[in-house]
Amino acid sequence: MRMTLCPLFSGSSGNSIYIAGGGVRLLVDAGMSAAREEAALREIGVNVRDLDGILVTHEHVDHIRGLGVLCRKHGLPVYANEGTWRGILEKEPGIPARCVPTFYTGEDFYIGGVNVRPFAIPHDAYEPVGFTVESRGLRCGVATDIGHICEPWISAVAGCQALVLEANHDVEMVERGPYPQRLRKRILGRNGHLCNADCAKALVELAKKGTRAVSLAHLSADNNLPELAYNTVWEALCDAGYAGEVCVSVARRDRVSDMLVLEDEVADAV
Ligand SMILES: [Zn+2]
Ligand SMILES: [Zn+2]
Repeated sequence: MRMTLCPLFSGSSGNSIYIAGGGVRLLVDAGMSAAREEAALREIGVNVRDLDGILVTHEHVDHIRGLGVLCRKHGLPVYANEGTWRGILEKEPGIPARCVPTFYTGEDFYIGGVNVRPFAIPHDAYEPVGFTVESRGLRCGVATDIGHICEPWISAVAGCQALVLEANHDVEMVERGPYPQRLRKRILGRNGHLCNADCAKALVELAKKGTRAVSLAHLSADNNLPELAYNTVWEALCDAGYAGEVCVSVARRDRVSDMLVLEDEVADAV
């Protein structure tokens, strides 16, 4: 049994993550153009027509840019909750009716033999969620666009062996950076994005519960650096005695990133 998790794009210009396991192939979000999504999938040997669906976290454009074209062109089912559907249809009214399965936040559902659990996250969208995907004891999770650490999402992803976790910004870089006050307030606010330090803090807790591979994701181009995010997380893991137990990689903004592979509860970045 094997499960793979691969960020195709990550950051404010577009987010998309490929997850495969238990005979099911999914995308979480389609935030780049359909053509770029298709090309990225081809690069990892996947034909877009072989996808079983697209799970949508929330309606911000960096998560749905390619959605309309992908589902009109290929008839792919798009899984979203009621609030996110409202947001998607405001921006993309032409989604065919056959493509609109709806789930309830907090309630598990199945795609083939794979269990999907959407969980609530604090973010400034209608009804934003993260996901865990599980098949025969292998479990991975996606948690990005998260304003702050809180118990509900931490406990939802606890026990995931592999995670895509947001490390959006360095607080000092935001405070000293070029952004206008309104934007700074949004990013740093409780419904904005997760900073490196909070990502590190969350990951230490999650490492205690069994997380063994993480891809740091949704890094800001202006308020973060890949090595800064990596070092912040790495130092926290070292201080907590988890150095060497968690494989840490950083998701790239505009190209396919390292794939996390789960096999019989062993996770490695390849
Ligand atoms: Zn967002
Ligand atoms: Zn986003």
